[in-house]
Amino acid sequence: MSEEHIPDILALAEAVTQKSDWKEALDSVMAVVRSVFLFDNLSLYTLENSSSEITEIAYARAVGRGQSAGADAAWGAEIASRVIAQNELVVQTPNAHEANENRLTQPFVLGLPLRTYEGIIGAVVFVRFGGPEYTPAQIQRAQYIATQFSALFMRKKLTEEVAALASARRLLEMQEDFLATISHELRTPLGFIKGYTTTLLRKDTNWDEETRREFLQIIDEEADHLNELIENVLESARLQSNTLPMRFQPVRLDILIRDTMIRSQARYKNLQVRLDFATAPTINADSVRIAQVLENLFSNANKYAPGAPVSISLTQIRDFYRIRFSDAGPGIPAEYLPNLFQRFYRVPGQTGSGSGLGLFICKQIIEAHGGRISVESTLGRGTTFIIDLPIAGKNPGD
Ligand code: ADP
Repeated sequence: MSEEHIPDILALAEAVTQKSDWKEALDSVMAVVRSVFLFDNLSLYTLENSSSEITEIAYARAVGRGQSAGADAAWGAEIASRVIAQNELVVQTPNAHEANENRLTQPFVLGLPLRTYEGIIGAVVFVRFGGPEYTPAQIQRAQYIATQFSALFMRKKLTEEVAALASARRLLEMQEDFLATISHELRTPLGFIKGYTTTLLRKDTNWDEETRREFLQIIDEEADHLNELIENVLESARLQSNTLPMRFQPVRLDILIRDTMIRSQARYKNLQVRLDFATAPTINADSVRIAQVLENLFSNANKYAPGAPVSISLTQIRDFYRIRFSDAGPGIPAEYLPNLFQRFYRVPGQTGSGSGLGLFICKQIIEAHGGRISVESTLGRGTTFIIDLPIAGKNPGD
């Protein structure tokens, strides 16, 4: 290329490299191509991996004189197929006898292969209706443009591959974390069970009845804990893989909250609860799952805010209901709040029983309803969980 081409070459190369987003890069390349090459229509075609079939029209642009981009893209596919089959450029000029007044019936077509080190990956087709013909210098320029398109497609492919690898790695890391945490969590109660059982079985010691009962009590509690842990792990895995179906039906939220409160009070004798609502809203929800969320919040209030009163309010805000579940317990330091709904997360220093799965499961359930759960907390004053549930339930396809 001669020196006069250098600014164009530079502009194209910059358009290819300066944008991080692939689509935006393609748009800026197109803008430069329009200013350095005369055409009415331009279409880009790409091939499915390792096939010679055109599977995707990556770009189609009509710049004024003529037909719609869509129609021309379909029409250019024939030339693109030829370019790809022959792996070389194709120039097509209208037959002289077809010359007439209508420029649209006289396309001058230039098709060029898009090549990378992997071979041919597609084609670019330019059309000029009614000419002018492509000069050798212009064809060379078009070839240069084609190399820039090829570089862009290559980059797109590499970016997609990197993203796929990164997500595979994240999954692997999550699985490794999960295994490490779960084996630790399972070992702790198992250690207690094994230790106390071995102690009780020792032949050289006679335990009095009270001690025996105390040890058996611990074994019993730890076995329950183990059971709960396994249930929670299975449940969170099912929720995460969407294999736990929700059964949506009309649910009276006030009744559901009251029933769950009564059950929880039977379990946690010191639990004081104030219900702060008069409305009787009906929403579309899975009552068993929503009750499970509330039970978990009661269980947490009992564990982490023992003796502190709980109050629950219910208000309608536009098309959803908001449940505010507050305790007047010790609260949670602000720095830990963002992690609270993560799998296995427990506030550091937590000693009592727990797996850090409860709030994770709550979040999954609320989100499966198309709702949201969040937390607010003030040290020394208490913690509030806020649940927003859409009245209509989750929209199909959400
Ligand atoms: P678990 O109770 O099994 O540890 P959760 O996911 O239910 O797991 O809770 C995560 C952590 O959030 C708990 O370990 C606790 O540190 C903190 N937490 C939850 N609810 C409260 C509460 N009402 N008051 C203070 N801290 C809480």
